[in-house]
Amino acid sequence: MPAALYPKNIKLDYLSRGGVRTLVADNEIKAPLLCFECEQRFSRNGESEVLRHIAGKIANKPSPLLAKLTPLTVKEEDATLKSYCGTEAGLKMDMFAYFALSIAWRSTHSWPVLGEEDTESLNLGLYKEPVRQFLAEEIIEFPRDTAVTAIVCTDKVSREAWFLPAQSDDIWYHDLRFLAFGVMFRVTLGKRCLPS
Ligand SMILES: [Zn+2]
Repeated sequence: MPAALYPKNIKLDYLSRGGVRTLVADNEIKAPLLCFECEQRFSRNGESEVLRHIAGKIANKPSPLLAKLTPLTVKEEDATLKSYCGTEAGLKMDMFAYFALSIAWRSTHSWPVLGEEDTESLNLGLYKEPVRQFLAEEIIEFPRDTAVTAIVCTDKVSREAWFLPAQSDDIWYHDLRFLAFGVMFRVTLGKRCLPS
């Protein structure tokens, strides 16, 4: 998981299979997976840009993403959610999508967690290989039937927490989510992605 998600000098609680845990070392959820070149590509195409907006060190300050979005026209609205177009706020949404896919893909591997069971490997099914090809820049087009939503949370609890990618599939699609300091990323892969 990207190192910027575990900031130094901040007490960090996160949710794992064992329940809520406090991260005590910045190497708790780490395993060799990518070569240097791929690490650089992941960083260049998504991580470095996205983590500027959500890195943990800003958790106690006003949310820069909310400040960018709230002046914009609301596209859709219900009781709990307002939708905006991130591009209108000047956000590089293709990089948010790449970042979320890169975390989803990394989560198909099992990660060791200090003091408890390894993380469960998530399943991208038939989409795993097209996602890998896209991330590796072997293909340029965004993978088919794939959607990434970034949900900017307004509550304090979400702003101060993160949880590891978790999966709750529907029969029609794979549905993965992870929370990173007030931004919930949702990745759906499948032909029928019904909003919920
Ligand atoms: Zn590589």
